Amino acid sequence: MSELSPEATPLRRPRFVTAVPGPKATAIIQRSEGAVSTSYTRDYPLVAEKGEGCWITDPDDNEFLDMTSGIAVCSTGHCHPSVVRAIQEQAGKLIHMSGTDFYYAPQSRLAHRMANIGAVRGDKHRVYFGNSGTEANECALKLARHKTGRYGIIGFLGSFHGRSLGSVSVTSSRAIQRARFGPLVPGVFHSLYPDPLRHGADATPRALEHLDLVLSKLITPEEVAAILVEPIQGEGGYIIPPDSFLIALRELCDKHGILLMFDEVQSGMGRTGKMFAWQHSGVAPDVISLAKGIASGMPLSATISSAEIMSWPPGAHASTFGGNPVSCAASWATLDLLEGGLVHNAAVVGDRFQAMLAEGLKNHPRVGEVRGRGLMVAVELVKDRESLARDGELRNAVVMRAFDKGLLILGCGPNSIRFAPALVLNEAEATVAAEIFIDVLNELS
Ligand code: PLP
Repeated sequence: MSELSPEATPLRRPRFVTAVPGPKATAIIQRSEGAVSTSYTRDYPLVAEKGEGCWITDPDDNEFLDMTSGIAVCSTGHCHPSVVRAIQEQAGKLIHMSGTDFYYAPQSRLAHRMANIGAVRGDKHRVYFGNSGTEANECALKLARHKTGRYGIIGFLGSFHGRSLGSVSVTSSRAIQRARFGPLVPGVFHSLYPDPLRHGADATPRALEHLDLVLSKLITPEEVAAILVEPIQGEGGYIIPPDSFLIALRELCDKHGILLMFDEVQSGMGRTGKMFAWQHSGVAPDVISLAKGIASGMPLSATISSAEIMSWPPGAHASTFGGNPVSCAASWATLDLLEGGLVHNAAVVGDRFQAMLAEGLKNHPRVGEVRGRGLMVAVELVKDRESLARDGELRNAVVMRAFDKGLLILGCGPNSIRFAPALVLNEAEATVAAEIFIDVLNELS
């Protein structure tokens, strides 16, 4: 992928032809508001009409620089021509035949490729296909219980694993996501996730001390089927744990026959500048959950483990739509692009983008930290640098004001901004995004 220098390329900027939302967008919003579930969260009134690369055009022809990629999904950029071609060709041949009951080439060849991509420990792997991140985790959770015959699942405070009942039972990112749905799936215990910003070198020891309490006061290690953890916490705030934390989890799991399961639904598929975020630490999981960026926007998820672990009997787990031919074709084209340069681009442009933010915000009193790996980048906003008191209000105001200026960003955790653009982001686009963001923050604080 080309890494464009800002000098060589005229800087494309967001462009407005109407106030936002304009008349056409407003009509769509009004229709939607009257008909869709009230549980949807829309932080600002963006109506997407067309997408190309890192740009979204709304129905009134306003153009936005998209640093969300549809929440870390459109990894190859909106409507990458190779992905569009793959989808169109496959849709003309076969759209659905239920891949858990019948065979078709797009699924079998993708399964073979994913089984050999080095996603987990061991050398012979198997893949289960679903449609979403939560389904990938449901599979992982069921597999862990089925394989070990144990019931316990350890999750971490701040984690997000999805919204179906199994996954939401392990999720603990915001109480509203669990409220009034109880009793949730029993056997789930939550432990502390490290917070290197606030606890520095103590972050791992504190988290492990808490885990030790869970495993001595609440459940014995011999009853634990799996530890489910995000190697970089996503919705929880793009928190990067020290390697020592993941290493300790690996050792604990090996000692007690517990499966170590990484939820890489958000951090996987090249986003961090490596195919999987765990590769930065070298700690490989037994089971991995993947979705979001795996098929550039088509619904697909994969749960991968060793063939020895994924050896449950026919009928134990399946899905009508999982791994449908069109999603598999999109995923194949996505992998070609990721392996063909986009993972590398995420590392290079991600480093540049982080450096621009760090430089532009280095003395900013409201910035607790700029952090990230590759194109999984966050800025944590605080009331002041000494107390590091979280400033969620400022964060929300920044997200909204950035939208007014044509920059699409999202929050994560209680007080962080996340940048999760398509991995095609070039340096010119990164420069524009950093400039707008820094201007907005200066204006509001
Ligand atoms: N796991 C992680 C780490 C996620 O970030 C998400 C979604 O944000 C999910 C699981 C759930 O994915 P989905 O919304 O596709 O079910």
